[in-house]
Amino acid sequence: MLVSITCAGPNSSDLGFLLHKHPDRVRSVDVGGGRAHVFYPEAAEGRTTAVLLVEVDPIRLSRLARGRKSAATLEPYVNDRPYVASSMLSVAIGKLYGTALSGTCDTKPELVDRPLDLEISVPVVGAPQGGELIARVFEPLGWEVDSTVLPLDAAFASWGDSRFASLELRGSKTVKDALAHLYVLLPVLDGRKHYWIGEAEVDKLLRHGGDWLAAHPERELISRRYLRFGSLARDALARLAEGAVDSDERDEGNDAGENALERPISLNEQRLDAVMDAVVRAGGGSVVDLGCGEGRLLKRLIAEPSVTDVLGVDVSLRALDQAESRLRLDELSERRRERVSLVQGALTYADARLHGRDVATVVEVVEHLDAERLDVFARVVFGEAAPQTVVVTTPNREYNVHFERLPPGRFRHGDHRFEWTRAEFNEWVLAVCSEYRYTATFAPIGNDDVETGPPTQMAVLRKAAS
Ligand code: SAH
Repeated sequence: MLVSITCAGPNSSDLGFLLHKHPDRVRSVDVGGGRAHVFYPEAAEGRTTAVLLVEVDPIRLSRLARGRKSAATLEPYVNDRPYVASSMLSVAIGKLYGTALSGTCDTKPELVDRPLDLEISVPVVGAPQGGELIARVFEPLGWEVDSTVLPLDAAFASWGDSRFASLELRGSKTVKDALAHLYVLLPVLDGRKHYWIGEAEVDKLLRHGGDWLAAHPERELISRRYLRFGSLARDALARLAEGAVDSDERDEGNDAGENALERPISLNEQRLDAVMDAVVRAGGGSVVDLGCGEGRLLKRLIAEPSVTDVLGVDVSLRALDQAESRLRLDELSERRRERVSLVQGALTYADARLHGRDVATVVEVVEHLDAERLDVFARVVFGEAAPQTVVVTTPNREYNVHFERLPPGRFRHGDHRFEWTRAEFNEWVLAVCSEYRYTATFAPIGNDDVETGPPTQMAVLRKAAS
């Protein structure tokens, strides 16, 4: 995939200063799943073109991808990812044009806010809605848009159109705005992310979209498609509406802009958001929270209208006591109190009280069970209680390298018996699915680092129709 930016006119060499890349040299860096290069196919008087090319390594990319194990097919290796402008291109823009994107140019600061006559060309972009969306997102920003939906195969016209288009943009824009538009909108058109979306993504969207996105007629669609996660999109829109980012702050550079944003929501909150989202998507109903601990999730569950009743189960009486006071059961109305109960129980023993529920949640609990008891746990939950939906979250061990104070090889909590990598979690979940006839989808929670994945991993298992 590539994007080329051409500056025409007498000042065309300003492009090289702004991009901080010397026209005679090729610069290359690693981006997760590939390598990105910047080079100048032309740097003549009156016309300068910089190309950012991302070479995708499908094998590396497929190792990073998760949640869709289609081992029987070649799809993980043979797909459109190497060609379509996607979030990988945005990552490359951030890495190779980061200084220009943040509006910094030490050698010629006066250039930063000067519009240049730019022509941008991206040979393959996503073309949702038959390509209509392309003009709808770029035109309101003042770009002249020329896009052509590409045929599926030029040799077989009867096969019809592909889901992709070529894109040319023309306009008089500052380089920093042009890059910010591409950074946010190319993944929006692609509609897929090569890594999941966490709180850091909201900040990136606001940082790069802050001043133009708030006024964009398609801001809802852009936030939704960029973030692809209901509650985060709502968060971003709310912050845009509050004007949380203003351009004065942004111009001081990334850090100041970032500090000016609200403190990002904690991982724990994100986990609760993601689990509640899954419960609501499953249709709510009767929910049991297995290993409910101090009842943080229970509190959310009883406030959710689609949830009819809630059972909290934990082996620890102390935790149940804390849950009881957190929920202020004695202060709840009769009607609400009837909807919630707390019982002591161990998840590694058959327990008829768990039967007949629509949804079970198991949040940060499996890693507290002895590995040799996991089979019994699976039988109790998936074989016997057998709710329609089970939501499981657990730490992703690969992420631990980001915790500076955690010595290598140690777990995050003294009571954790193990912590799984993404592959290990996948393997356990898929084994449960095949034994108890469930199907699973996976989702990361928190900042989904390109190399290590997210801090928390989630699987939503649904009982297969019999
Ligand atoms: N789900 C809660 C608590 C996670 S901590 C939250 O996300 O905040 C793990 C909890 O699992 C603890 O409260 C612990 O008491 C409980 N637990 C550990 N082993 C258990 C077992 N065998 N049966 C039931 N609960 C167990």
